[in-house]
Amino acid sequence: MASETHPEIREAVRRLCGQFPGPYWRAKDRDRSYPTEFVTALTEAGFLSVLIPEVYGGSGLGLSAATAILEEIHRSGSNGGACHAQMYTMGTLLKHGSEAQKQAYLPKIATGEIRLQAFGVTEPGAGTDTTRITTFARRDGDDFVVNGQKIWISRAEHSDLMVLLCRTTARDDAAKSSDGMSVLLVDLREAVGNGLTIRPIRTMLNHATTELFFDDLRVPAANLIGEEGKGFRYILDGMNAERILIAAECIGDAKFFIDRASDYAKGREVFGGPIGANQGVQFPIARAHVQMSAAELMVSHAADLFEAGQPCGTEANMAKMLASEASWFAADTAIQVHGGFGFAEDYDIERKFRETRLYQVAPISTNLILSHVGTHVLGMPKSF
Ligand SMILES: Cc1cc2nc3c(=O)[nH]c(=O)nc-3n(C[C@H](O)[C@H](O)[C@H](O)COP(=O)(O)OP(=O)(O)OC[C@H]3O[C@@H](n4cnc5c(N)ncnc54)[C@H](O)[C@@H]3O)c2cc1C
Repeated sequence: MASETHPEIREAVRRLCGQFPGPYWRAKDRDRSYPTEFVTALTEAGFLSVLIPEVYGGSGLGLSAATAILEEIHRSGSNGGACHAQMYTMGTLLKHGSEAQKQAYLPKIATGEIRLQAFGVTEPGAGTDTTRITTFARRDGDDFVVNGQKIWISRAEHSDLMVLLCRTTARDDAAKSSDGMSVLLVDLREAVGNGLTIRPIRTMLNHATTELFFDDLRVPAANLIGEEGKGFRYILDGMNAERILIAAECIGDAKFFIDRASDYAKGREVFGGPIGANQGVQFPIARAHVQMSAAELMVSHAADLFEAGQPCGTEANMAKMLASEASWFAADTAIQVHGGFGFAEDYDIERKFRETRLYQVAPISTNLILSHVGTHVLGMPKSF
């Protein structure tokens, strides 16, 4: 097992999460309501601004500090899905925004005065083939005028700003299919009701995800991040951080399930002894631990490469795949070990089971990771 980095941060996150125990998350889950108190507590403790450089009011730590925070949140039974996007979405602004944009937004994001929690890429007609997005921003004087639709845009109702990927040149008119997309920073406080409609989508987990409809939404041209037409590259840049952070959440989930399952297996007596003495119960839990530990090493390796500024696309993808599979196997095992109680809301296993299933689909599905490895790493032909 990888030695755990950032012990002080981990301890502080555990203490904070201790104030938000199972009943808090169960109530939020039941109502599909946003864990505002939890997000506020994390913001006030400075955990959501660890990646923002000190010059803009953050703590300027590396990605491994952020992985430690998200892993501990998930290990404690909480869920970082309500706020994790701030950590990686901010990177697009930090890396590609102008100095004026960074000065205008980053210090306020660091204090929590404004929230940058929404990231608008996916569209119903494009799916994973992002070059097929059609939401279009047409230049009109000092504004862009945006029309189109996005789906699965999480936290849009609980965010002040959104990083939006849209086309500024139609796919057919661009030199390459990945050219002609641009990133706009949308002020959701002004946009809602003025060309932007947000519709929540109820899902099997409490994730505050939504559908967005753009109807002549005006966004100041000053909110264009980086160069027009280069947006796809900027978004890809940010995806490595996203995948590594999500992988860390999966490691936290896996540890949660393994802790709970092994504790339960030691204490639950059936047929005159603890169920954990039976290898049919014990070995799957041990296997979950083995898988989680291997995935944890890959997450830590990917985070190290990212921090060193080295290419890490393949490692970030592999870490996300291994960790999401390890957390799912651990979740399934924990349900089985708990017998009927695995299905009882009060044990939090069924909630976490639903929550961790997401990560084999989003932010990128396992098949697309395998396709990346098959074609980019192993040089086999592409099917699309
Ligand atoms: C709860 C939730 C929250 C989300 N939050 C956000 C968000 O905040 N912002 C955002 O932009 N997006 C968000 N997403 C979208 C998410 O990133 C996508 O759902 C995910 O990338 C998969 O894309 P898709 O749903 O369009 O699936 P599709 O692209 O339609 O794919 C469907 C299935 O087919 C498989 N498939 C597709 N093409 C191939 C191929 N060539 N070879 C083999 N298999 C293939 C995929 O692996 C997948 O299993 C969220 C999704 C969910 C469910």
